[in-house]
Amino acid sequence: MDVTCPACTEASERSSGRFQMGCRGCIARGVSRYINFRESQQQGRLTHKYRLQLEQAGVSHEEVKAAAAGDFEQRAACSA
Ligand SMILES: [Zn+2]
Repeated sequence: MDVTCPACTEASERSSGRFQMGCRGCIARGVSRYINFRESQQQGRLTHKYRLQLEQAGVSHEEVKAAAAGDFEQRAACSA
């Protein structure tokens, strides 16, 4: 995914709660921080709630996974 907005760049470098309106990367990162995404990862399938959230946010599961992988905050959480 192209990460071009300042909030995305910041989030990849350090823990950040910044989101820019209209940026798909930011939307995907926002979704990836919800419990629905983590539940889906843990269960190895997309939960109903998570599917609904993807639909409402207008981003794909692939985009959310990519955002989670590039999110400094979540990388830090995973390695802890
Ligand atoms: Zn962004």
